[in-house]
Amino acid sequence: MTTKVKTLYLSRFNMPTMCAACHSPNGYGKGLKVSSSKSNWSGKETATLTVELPLCEECAKVNVVSGTGKFLKALGFIGVIAACLLIAGLNATDAIKNPLVSIVSGAVLITAIIIGTNKLVNEVDMKGFTPEQRERRKKVQKCAKIQSFKLPGVFDNQSFVVFEFQDPLFAMEFSTLNMGTIV
Ligand SMILES: [Zn+2]
Repeated sequence: MTTKVKTLYLSRFNMPTMCAACHSPNGYGKGLKVSSSKSNWSGKETATLTVELPLCEECAKVNVVSGTGKFLKALGFIGVIAACLLIAGLNATDAIKNPLVSIVSGAVLITAIIIGTNKLVNEVDMKGFTPEQRERRKKVQKCAKIQSFKLPGVFDNQSFVVFEFQDPLFAMEFSTLNMGTIV
């Protein structure tokens, strides 16, 4: 179940002293980064809000991305660029007659590369994990997100951030500490 917490857009959020994923009491400052980006009305400027939530040692341990994982992610990124070049190249040589075919096949190819890379990275990072640790990693990865936010405007001073937490205890504590409301 998801608990939504709405707060003002604060420059600094007060963090509960518990783990965001399993509400173990020994959550500490460094942990899970959640972020959200949005463009302004002209699309020229993008604001990004990043908040670091506390994790306990167990949860922090299963959430690391290994060196190999980072390397694979980089490879996946190169793969996406290569796929774009390939499709563009095929288009230029008239190998594909229908432009729609190349757009659709390009999109499918790129999506497959991204999904494949993410799966592979997860598998590599979870090598040697016990089933309990695999479950925990899943829990950590979806325990919190920023649903939406609004910066204080020029004409109105209204700002807000809406968080989504999977753990109701953490959500309540976070809400209290930051003068938020459960929505
Ligand atoms: Zn934890």
